[in-house]
Amino acid sequence: MTIGDNGFIKELNYKTVLDTIRTKGAVSRADVSRLTGLTRSTCTVICDRMLKQGIIIETGTVGSTGGRPPILLQINNRAGAVLGLKMMEDMIAGATVDLGGNIIQQQSWEMRPGLDMETYLPRFEEFVQDIIGKHRNSYPLIPMLGIGIGVGGRVSSDGVLIKSSVLGWRDVSLKKRLQKRFSMPVHIENDVNTFAIGEKFFGAGVHYENFLSLSVGEGIGLGIIIDGKLFAGSHHGAGELGHTRISFDSQAPYCTCGKQGCLESFTSDRAIIGMYNQETGKTFQINEIIQKASEGDPHALKVFKIMGRYLGIAVSSLVNIFDPQAVIIGGERTNASQFFIKELSTAMQENTVYDLAKDVDLIVLEPSNNEWIRGVAALAIREFFSATTNWRQ
Ligand SMILES: [Zn+2]
Repeated sequence: MTIGDNGFIKELNYKTVLDTIRTKGAVSRADVSRLTGLTRSTCTVICDRMLKQGIIIETGTVGSTGGRPPILLQINNRAGAVLGLKMMEDMIAGATVDLGGNIIQQQSWEMRPGLDMETYLPRFEEFVQDIIGKHRNSYPLIPMLGIGIGVGGRVSSDGVLIKSSVLGWRDVSLKKRLQKRFSMPVHIENDVNTFAIGEKFFGAGVHYENFLSLSVGEGIGLGIIIDGKLFAGSHHGAGELGHTRISFDSQAPYCTCGKQGCLESFTSDRAIIGMYNQETGKTFQINEIIQKASEGDPHALKVFKIMGRYLGIAVSSLVNIFDPQAVIIGGERTNASQFFIKELSTAMQENTVYDLAKDVDLIVLEPSNNEWIRGVAALAIREFFSATTNWRQ
């Protein structure tokens, strides 16, 4: 379609209105007109169509200075649900999520680590079947619209798992296989990218067009949102921040990728455990080191400060390159952010050129076990919303 094409403009207007209602919450038709710049009559036609389709609902009225109080519109969260899934070596987890990002049901199955693909995938499919079956039994009126899957590794734009260091597989046509098996759209993405998409769609990034999401924990991952969209790179491999080399010292620690001196080998959980061991000669698990930091152990506090400084320097380079509106920090290690965020912030400010970091919002997410669900669900829901103009017509 080309610009000027009537159908194209109608579709664009529909998406603009839908996106406005979705991101602004309860709004009146007049608000929609004001926020989108579309005429009142165009907005009314589009909103009436959405009401008929069941994708939005009228939620009540607001006080008015005179005349009839305006009726508010919002997304009908229960107009559909998606299934978000996470594939890990020792566990598969899934949740059905409504269009507002609210979890309806969730479950997980343990897996025996080291399973080959031929054993893992049938078990995974059994899991998916089980959770879909439960959803259909409990919520027959909420249609299942699609599946979103997050996995550690490199995933192509057409849903081929090119390489997963987590699962040890290569070149698996996951999307094709699962779409055939479950007869619904399947979207697969690298788990760090799903985190960025989730924040843009439901989370701290909703009102930013350009931001970076940094995932901190076992590894260091980067998601890049530019002009409101994920930037995945020319070969779907962008964001490997953890494996940028930051030390050329021949004694620099080895990284899980096999190379030496990567950022990750100074900032991941494994690095913190290693640094603590160097400081004290003792080996503890990451949660024990966090506990020690919270009790004031100077060695534990020191290693988190070093880690924060390394991360802050890395973030300053990113700010120099991308000039983002915000940097959002998530991942498991946000549960220790109080021990490293000050150093991260200072290093970011000190090492950025032209004071670029001054106006960058540094946001640390609350530690949550369910952060991933928002990401994988958003993967499927955003596709639904962008394809929704023809829904139930
Ligand atoms: Zn590496």
